[in-house]
Amino acid sequence: MAFLYYFAENLIMKYIILLLLICSLSISSAQQFDVAKIRGHIKILASDSMQGRGTGKEGEKMAAAYIQAQFKKLKLQHKRDNNSYLQAFPFKGGAHGEGEGGTANNIAGFLDNKATTTIIIGAHYDHLGMGDQGSSLDANPQEKIHNGADDNASGVAGVIELARFLSTNKIKEKNNFLFLCFSGEELGLVGSKYFTEHPTLDLSTVNYMINMDMIGRLDEQTKILLVHGTGTSPVWEPLLKKLENENVKIKTDSSGVGPSDHTSFYLKNLPVLHFFTGSHSDYHKPSDDWDKINYKGEADVLSLIATVITSLDAEPKLTFLTTKTKPMGTRSAFKVTMGVMPSYSSDAEGLKVDGVTEGRPAQKAGIQTGDVIIQMGDLAIKDIQNYMEALGKFEKGQTVPVKVKRAGETLTFLVTF
Ligand SMILES: [Zn+2]
Repeated sequence: MAFLYYFAENLIMKYIILLLLICSLSISSAQQFDVAKIRGHIKILASDSMQGRGTGKEGEKMAAAYIQAQFKKLKLQHKRDNNSYLQAFPFKGGAHGEGEGGTANNIAGFLDNKATTTIIIGAHYDHLGMGDQGSSLDANPQEKIHNGADDNASGVAGVIELARFLSTNKIKEKNNFLFLCFSGEELGLVGSKYFTEHPTLDLSTVNYMINMDMIGRLDEQTKILLVHGTGTSPVWEPLLKKLENENVKIKTDSSGVGPSDHTSFYLKNLPVLHFFTGSHSDYHKPSDDWDKINYKGEADVLSLIATVITSLDAEPKLTFLTTKTKPMGTRSAFKVTMGVMPSYSSDAEGLKVDGVTEGRPAQKAGIQTGDVIIQMGDLAIKDIQNYMEALGKFEKGQTVPVKVKRAGETLTFLVTF
């Protein structure tokens, strides 16, 4: 009896120890990212006091101060010689650059592992302010605070928490990390574009760029995380398939061009990934609030992103691939499309081309990224408005001479729609 009793007790102890072990293991992986910390960042960045973080506005400066304080706590370095995390850039306001402009700031913090390559981890921290920036979906947006909890306090929380993870995990990775928070995204990727034109490190040493834009609304049922840019390097698709788990299901899109900051890096021939939990009815409305965020879901998304980074750490610098891109911003009202990504931030007269879609009319005719379209058929193109109007006037199958400026020369291409 006694022996049996002892044996049973021993067995129970063994089970208890095993159970404790399993629990601690699952807790350590699930709690790699702290839900309370993520909630804390988003509650502050999306609070009414930040006034919707309009580009260059007082509320956005408050958000920038908060992000810098977090970077400082994590002992990230300045990646510039101006003894600051800030990179100032000029911007023009309004939906098409017609509004009042000013100066805004990107925020860059560097984790130096003395490696030869650097991974950029980014998210935009600006949003629509008080609804006067032109892209609110509210019927009467003026004077309403657009808090932007998912868009994109969620991504900024991701940058800060990945910075914490990578700087406190006691592993010296074989890459350095540049944590970047962009402004001017909502005005047309203005901040990220400025960064890639005025980089604070040699872009040829950048391994890849990870962009988090709207990662706070992981669906509780489907758990689908959209990952865009998977065609920009051969490693992405097989790796992401492998990392899918019971908390996060992955849906990929190959294109390196999309409506967020990774596009600026893709256009500099860098592999990119954009993580996105999907659009929703509060998108670009004053109701995108902190209490609608799925915090556990965001922690799961960050765990997956951290695993992407750590599982590639021993690999050599990633190979870059160009991707077939979907036409951007096509409106059903147009009978024809060119397949170009228009620049929303260029001040050149005409329409500056920020990207061309392979296999579409503009690219087939010979138009390239950087060209400025100044005439289509008989129509002079002075700005994006003229360009949109012109697209409404041509028919499918029609061939039209398109004049562009390229490096001081005026060239004419025959575009067949
Ligand atoms: Zn947005």
